[in-house]
Amino acid sequence: MRNASDDRRAEPQASTGGLNPMRNADRIEKLTAHIVEIPRDTPYLGPLRDGEQVNRRGYIVRRGNRTLYPTTDRSVVLRIDTESGLTGWGETYGIVAPEAVRAILDDIVAPVLEGRDPSAPSVIHEDLYDLMRVRGYFGGFYLDALAAVDIALWDLLGKRLGVPVSTLLGGRRHDRIPAYVSGLPRATVEDRVAFARDWQAQGFDSFKFAAVVADGGAEAEMAALRDGLGLRARIAADLHWRHTAPEAVRLVRALERHALWFAEAPCAPEDVAGAAEVARAVGVPVALGEEYRTIHEWQPRLAVRAMGIAQPEMGRTGITQFARIGALCQANHVAVMPHATIGVGIFMAASLQAASTLQGCVAHEYQHSIFDPNLALTRPTGTRHMACAAGEYVLPDGPGLGVEPAEAMLAAVVGPG
Ligand code: MG
Repeated sequence: MRNASDDRRAEPQASTGGLNPMRNADRIEKLTAHIVEIPRDTPYLGPLRDGEQVNRRGYIVRRGNRTLYPTTDRSVVLRIDTESGLTGWGETYGIVAPEAVRAILDDIVAPVLEGRDPSAPSVIHEDLYDLMRVRGYFGGFYLDALAAVDIALWDLLGKRLGVPVSTLLGGRRHDRIPAYVSGLPRATVEDRVAFARDWQAQGFDSFKFAAVVADGGAEAEMAALRDGLGLRARIAADLHWRHTAPEAVRLVRALERHALWFAEAPCAPEDVAGAAEVARAVGVPVALGEEYRTIHEWQPRLAVRAMGIAQPEMGRTGITQFARIGALCQANHVAVMPHATIGVGIFMAASLQAASTLQGCVAHEYQHSIFDPNLALTRPTGTRHMACAAGEYVLPDGPGLGVEPAEAMLAAVVGPG
């Protein structure tokens, strides 16, 4: 005869089809890295300037910040398959030399991971980090590759348990995240102001301009935008790492006269003391961090209060490091405003998942020229896709990252993979 306690024991089995998804060990079967290429009408950061040309590999050196950019959007998308038939998706930077990341994944990472239980993403991240650290590979392309792996493993774990990644990270605090419009890719300041006003009419109240392509100088650009957008708009300046600390202090103080919101990347990426000096000398927050991949790069900058706003980039950090950086920022009373960049939408979804769990997340960058067109490259794993409209991101509701590649993305894969 059955009693009540037998029924209680039987219930969970019935609800999961007789399987506890974590009780049956799964194993990583295969990693497959894809390079995805997407044409764009206008190069990133706007049309070519005097003296800028496209080289034989399709790259432009932007004179304003001496940095290399591709003329198409590119990304490295990673697929991890398990023996039980689950698939996790990750993504990292692929805008330059994407083959370098793929080689790291194929030669170093895949043989180490094949056969391993995928259900401990943070532990695996630490183990992969250890593989190369004493050779000095604790950043750069190696950590980009690890970011893709990490995102795919969190996606797998979420799918296996049937929950979004935000649940795995401790729970979703925000279902919507305020978005700021980043980049105004038009050739003249008049056109850039008009472009920003179009977004304002669609319900966006926060903007960031790139000083590197402000032909009349950053202060004139700021003044024109303030004039066109009014006093209630929030306007930030990306200074693109161009200045010494004293130059940056003078410039930011000039921009403050037009009610600047924040000053991004005032000094060279390596100049920890310079950024701290600027942060102490000006009346608005310094924002930085898109180029730093691990807590080991963040910690010394937080220790000297080199920023008031942290901008971690999921495509470089992966979820494990992003979550640790977010916690470290909160412990240091620094706001988190994640960076957004060229990608197909996989690491963007990961960024929204992780950002949604952070109490200190106050906004997320919105790269309209990338996010909106690329929504067609992914589809939701649940009933709601991610979106950005009327000044805020809406998060997807499905398991894992909440999005996965659609046919259109697989059609954009170039080369072997
Ligand atoms: Mg930037």
